[in-house]
Amino acid sequence: SLLARLKDTSLAVESGFIAGRPVASAATGRTFEVTNPSTGEVLATLPDLNRAEAAAAIDAAQEAQKDWAARTGKDRATILRRLFDLMVANADDLAAILTAEMGKPLAEAKGEVLYGASYVEWFGEEAKRVYGDTIPGHQPDKRIIVVKQPVGVVAAITPWNFPNAMLARKLAPALAAGCAMVAKPASETPLSALALAVLAERAGLPAGLFSVLPSTDSVSVGREFCENPKIRKLTFTGSTNVGKILMRQGADQVLKLGLELGGNAPFIVFDDADLDAAVEGAIVSKYRNNGQTCVCANRLYVQAGVYDAFAQKLAERVGQIKVGDGFEAGALAGPLISDKALAKVEEHIADATAKGAQVLTGGRRDQRGGLYFEPTVLTGATATMKVAREETFGPVAPLFRFETVSEVVAMANNTEFGLASYLYSRDVSKIFRVAEALEYGMVGINTGLISTEVAPFGGIKQSGLGREGSKYGIEDYLEIKYLCLSV
Ligand code: ADP
Repeated sequence: SLLARLKDTSLAVESGFIAGRPVASAATGRTFEVTNPSTGEVLATLPDLNRAEAAAAIDAAQEAQKDWAARTGKDRATILRRLFDLMVANADDLAAILTAEMGKPLAEAKGEVLYGASYVEWFGEEAKRVYGDTIPGHQPDKRIIVVKQPVGVVAAITPWNFPNAMLARKLAPALAAGCAMVAKPASETPLSALALAVLAERAGLPAGLFSVLPSTDSVSVGREFCENPKIRKLTFTGSTNVGKILMRQGADQVLKLGLELGGNAPFIVFDDADLDAAVEGAIVSKYRNNGQTCVCANRLYVQAGVYDAFAQKLAERVGQIKVGDGFEAGALAGPLISDKALAKVEEHIADATAKGAQVLTGGRRDQRGGLYFEPTVLTGATATMKVAREETFGPVAPLFRFETVSEVVAMANNTEFGLASYLYSRDVSKIFRVAEALEYGMVGINTGLISTEVAPFGGIKQSGLGREGSKYGIEDYLEIKYLCLSV
């Protein structure tokens, strides 16, 4: 069981967490089960919280936020530093909780926890550097001062693919800026969020500043987040469709939005690339988290001169990826998150092969059964296939052939998404020309791994609004005010 894997069993929480208190039952009396996607084992039964509890959490957040905003940045930084230290000290337990509820290999889960913690460290440091500005007056007697203030109470809705990090990188800048947060994690993976709330309290975060609402009724909770006037910002990571729903719902109160939505990342390999490095980059970018990240390579464009060699090398490496339960030593690909996710992967492969693609390796459900799928490489992919237009969100690499630079830039940009992109080349001028022409918020050049707390993560076009991480990330949680003084 999960408890047997933990050094500190108090991190496995079976309640909601509102205003510093565990909430053991919902007003509706409903509960729901959290299961391990690898085994189907029930990990926890949680109260299924709803609008009433969301409203209570928002009230408490608004109350607590005033004092929090009035503290010094250094004071807030001290608490965030303690939270960072606690996340690192408890990383093994947090990773075990994460693997149990989400399925990713334990080593990858621990990597995620440390990645999430890095945002807490970073934004704690940034809390001390929320600088304003002075502007020379427009008249001789005028002095203009620009100050930055926290936006107020922030609601967060987070997905299941990074149950710890997607929340940590919203919570950290919000708290650093002086905001309070009410979060609804994905119902598949609420345990990581609840463990984070336990640690935040242990770090000395005052009650009410961080509440977590386990819930299967995301529609109702989402409505409360969009309609309650005490909410001043909604930050969401998830699908583009749900992002659009939230944008429409928030319109009536001109809700500030941070949106990290879907991607359709191109991964371009030019003839002059270091092929072995490109293969390794593709492995990291495509198969990490079993293909279930919004920055995963979705379309691999390979120039004609190296197409066959790249396909061969990639297939060989992919064939070696060990599929297995996240707790098994050496497992590199866990189960997919759900039947729906598995069905989408199968549908994309069936559609591609019906339209002429070939399966070079993988292509079927794994022999282990359940939600396991073989890491797959497809050759002969073309623009009319689903794999070209939709995010597969699974371990499938479709290889498209191209001839010229201008052709591949046009293909890569031919999507409504604009999150991550990747290119491999050794020609500096080509690198700059292509990187500048790609309509994406992020470009990995000769690397398949671009996520770090020091850089601004985010997308353009229908991939979202705002940036997470870096010096820019805290701005999303601040309002600008100017004081015009006549002397
Ligand atoms: P995914 O396909 O990754 O599950 P979703 O966008 O459906 O992406 O889910 C991301 C988060 O959004 C989850 O926490 C989910 O519960 C929540 N969610 C889904 N639908 C809605 C909605 N209509 N309103 C608010 N939140 C929603």
